[in-house]
Amino acid sequence: MLVSGGVSNVSFSFRGNDPVREAMHSVFLYHAIAAGMDLGIVNAGQLAIYEEIGRELRDAVEDVILNRRADATERLLQIAAQFKGEAGTKRKEDLEWRSLPVAKRLEHSLVKGIDDYIIEDTEEARLTFERPLQVIEGPLMDGMNVVGDLFGTGKMFLPQVVKSARVMKRAVAHLVPFIEKTKESGAPRSHGRLVIATVKGDVHDIGKNIVGVVLQCNNFEVIDLGVMVPCEKILETARRENADFIGLSGLITPSLDEMVHVAKEMQRQNFEVPLLIGGATTSPAHTSVRIAPQYRPGVVYVKDASRSVGVCQSLATPSQRAAFMAKVNEDHERRREQHAGKKLKGPELGLAQARANRRRIDWAAHTPTPPRVPGIHRFDDYPLRELLGYIDWMPFFNAWEFTGKFPEVLSDPKVGEAASNLYADARRMLKQLIGERWLKVRAVVGLFPANSLGDDVEVYADEQRATAVLTVSFLRQQKGKAAGQPHECLADYVAPKSSGVRDYLGAFAVTAGIGIEEHVARFERAHDDYSSIMLKALADRLAEAGAEHFHERVRRELWGYAPREALTNQQLIQEEYRGIRPAPGYPACPDHREKAKLWRLLDAERNAGIRLTESYAMYPTAAVSGWYLAHPDAHYFAVGKIDRDQVQDYARRNGVALEEMEKWLSPNLGYEATAT
Ligand code: SAH
Repeated sequence: MLVSGGVSNVSFSFRGNDPVREAMHSVFLYHAIAAGMDLGIVNAGQLAIYEEIGRELRDAVEDVILNRRADATERLLQIAAQFKGEAGTKRKEDLEWRSLPVAKRLEHSLVKGIDDYIIEDTEEARLTFERPLQVIEGPLMDGMNVVGDLFGTGKMFLPQVVKSARVMKRAVAHLVPFIEKTKESGAPRSHGRLVIATVKGDVHDIGKNIVGVVLQCNNFEVIDLGVMVPCEKILETARRENADFIGLSGLITPSLDEMVHVAKEMQRQNFEVPLLIGGATTSPAHTSVRIAPQYRPGVVYVKDASRSVGVCQSLATPSQRAAFMAKVNEDHERRREQHAGKKLKGPELGLAQARANRRRIDWAAHTPTPPRVPGIHRFDDYPLRELLGYIDWMPFFNAWEFTGKFPEVLSDPKVGEAASNLYADARRMLKQLIGERWLKVRAVVGLFPANSLGDDVEVYADEQRATAVLTVSFLRQQKGKAAGQPHECLADYVAPKSSGVRDYLGAFAVTAGIGIEEHVARFERAHDDYSSIMLKALADRLAEAGAEHFHERVRRELWGYAPREALTNQQLIQEEYRGIRPAPGYPACPDHREKAKLWRLLDAERNAGIRLTESYAMYPTAAVSGWYLAHPDAHYFAVGKIDRDQVQDYARRNGVALEEMEKWLSPNLGYEATAT
């Protein structure tokens, strides 16, 4: 018997991605011929050589062809995107646009984000104008307007715009020395000037940086003060530079209070410019209820970078500004009314009642597994490569304002191409940053004897359990619940001291951001916001991947309560494992201050090189920390609104004044704070 067949059907779903198709054909033939295939129908001129296929691609393709693992398809889809639009065996760059007039060439480079020719084209344009500034005001601005229009109408996406900005910045950088030589006064006229900063105590700036770039693309001037910026510096700069708007950004909840403070200061110092509020922790409700009442001239919540352009344009256009602000203020008023109405449905149970309705775990029926290797484990310069398989890519796409699922986003009819190009750039940088060791991963993990005492968990130095080295405090839900639903508190998942059961608590802190500054600075010097934002977003991903990886190692080896666990990355992302790693500042344990205890317990600054700001943000920014709870029923929940009785109790347990505690827990207060 002879075996023959057409091969190309195997790769049909990768039409348009020749490198992957060719790899699939040669892998198929390689194995099929060995297994006795006699004749295959393929395009012989378009066939990769088996040995020359990149290792990663070949493994992924082989996994699919030989059906070697359950997630083979998913993995191939993930890496396939990086080859899309790449070489293949033919394909030449289409250079027809190079014969267009220079203004059109500049536009093409800007719209496509190509910087290969930007200096020579800018120089050519400069020679045709009387003054170098005219190149900016003329063809370059025109090109950026096209970018702005395409973006505004949903035909371009954030990463593309940020790439366009890079091209623009390089063109401008080329012109600056000539402009200085002619002593032309000032920069080209912009629509307005924004002073933007991440507030004191907070270190996150990916979103803020994207806003800055997008506004620059739309001809706003942006003065970016960076991260951890004190109020006085923001206001001083705004006054000195005659800013038209001030923008504040923040990711962690303590930043909300800092924003209220800045608003109050602006009122006190008689500022008149609009205050823009954005960042992951902010919300329309908080802006309307807490910030807007502090500053009469106007506070605007800006949902994301795409929105920032519309907001600033409305505010900068005299004919639109009043109507726009009237609408904004109306929204504030409406939300305040809603909020006032909702307060009646604040916490529903007293603390004592909520405690009486705790989650009951039968500790007689569950024996906690003692850690195989208790104590502190340090990981210095941990291999980045180990973390690659643990990356959750969707939050990366979210950072660039793509929604949906991964890998489906790569083949989405509308955003698929932009998302695939972004992904290919990300994979390329990832490869380079690993090869050239740009980032260092450090981590510390600790596993300790522990028992709960009410809503606290006592952590002990050793199995004597004589003295607590630390008492971790958790909060309990007080919200209305359906019958039979417990009022959750994380402490319920650790065996009570009174039970006599020996239980344990873990803690970890991991960063992938050691060494990042030097590279961010290098990109910024090269006017390359695209790469600097990309690097930060990748470092964040690697830190999260680190958290995932070390959690797995804890479950399987270090604590060892799930030694035989074997989950795919997708299953890890969906949290199909036993136990959780709640992070202080997140909904189940919303008090950021508890990080200070975690740091003391692990000596995380020394052991992992991560420090805490005055708002308990972690620096390097690409860092994750949390507790490990091993009980099979442990799960994430949101504490939600709590009442004064619990805040008083919690403040007392922590030796902190009530007013101070209310400040830190402000997002969770189900009542008006005592202090104002
Ligand atoms: N794969 C995602 C994981 C981050 S979100 C990523 O790469 O970005 C999930 C993490 O957030 C959890 O591991 C936990 O540390 C924290 N988390 C989520 N919900 C939480 C909650 N309700 N309370 C406390 N921490 C929570």
